[in-house]
Amino acid sequence: MSTEEVVCERCGGTGTVMISDHRDVCPECLGLGILNQEKTVEPLSKSKSSIKRFVEWVIGALLVFYGIFFYLLIAYHLDPTDMIIILLVGHTVAFGSIVLYLLLGSVYRATG
Ligand SMILES: [Zn+2]
Repeated sequence: MSTEEVVCERCGGTGTVMISDHRDVCPECLGLGILNQEKTVEPLSKSKSSIKRFVEWVIGALLVFYGIFFYLLIAYHLDPTDMIIILLVGHTVAFGSIVLYLLLGSVYRATG
């Protein structure tokens, strides 16, 4: 886990701010003038990587699905109607779960 130090926006790196009519220690950086950006940066990159992981998982599931589909195709000689239904259901589940995951993620971010 990497941490990045950035100049505090509240005090502009001075470590002090004007509160009422006197200078006080910046409550944001506690007088350091710099902020550890780990807390603000991590949640975003974490949610991005979890979406990426989820999409990779769905793609993996789709590959398994194709494997099963072609196995059924060869082993049971499916008729075209069954093939279309199986493919439609498979893709609807795969892309539907991605859309659902993204929707739930944005709802979670909006409320949390
Ligand atoms: Zn500050």
